[in-house]
Amino acid sequence: MKAEIHPEYHETTFVCACGNKVDVRSTVKDLHIEICSACHPFFTGKQKLVDSAGRIEKFTRKYQKAKEAKEARVAKEAPVKESAPN
Ligand SMILES: [Zn+2]
Repeated sequence: MKAEIHPEYHETTFVCACGNKVDVRSTVKDLHIEICSACHPFFTGKQKLVDSAGRIEKFTRKYQKAKEAKEARVAKEAPVKESAPN
């Protein structure tokens, strides 16, 4: 191994959002993860929404707003005639 080009590799603990702790060796220290093999649906065999940061809800809200805006615009405007490209 060449000297002074490799990162430090030490024992550390990954802590999952479900409370599970995994002792590993890594170059990073005390990592907090969202999902692990103890709670991932693939390993548990149970259907579960993986949405710890509220992303699905955020997405739904965003597109609900866009849909409402489009409906309001369509209601306001007269039907647009299809024009042939020049
Ligand atoms: Zn977990």
